[in-house]
Amino acid sequence: MIDVSIDFARCDANGTCAALMPDVFAIGDNGLLEQLATTVTDDRSEDLDEVVLCCPMGAISRS
Ligand code: SF4
Repeated sequence: MIDVSIDFARCDANGTCAALMPDVFAIGDNGLLEQLATTVTDDRSEDLDEVVLCCPMGAISRS
C-alpha cells in the first residue's frame, strides 16, 4: 500500500485530484477538499503519480 498525504494548508480546493481519483479525493458540500482514503494499492502507483504531478499547489505527497 502507498500512503497518501495532503497538505491542507496549501490546497486551494480546485478539485483536480478529485476529478482524477474520486475515491480518494472529493470536494465536499462546504467547498473544501476531503480525503476519503489515506492509502491506495500498489497497482495504482502510476495513477497516483499523475495526481501528485497535476496538483497545481504541490499539496499531495506519497510515501
Ligand atoms: S489538486 Fe491539489 S490543490 Fe487541487 S484540490 Fe487536490 S490537493 Fe487541493
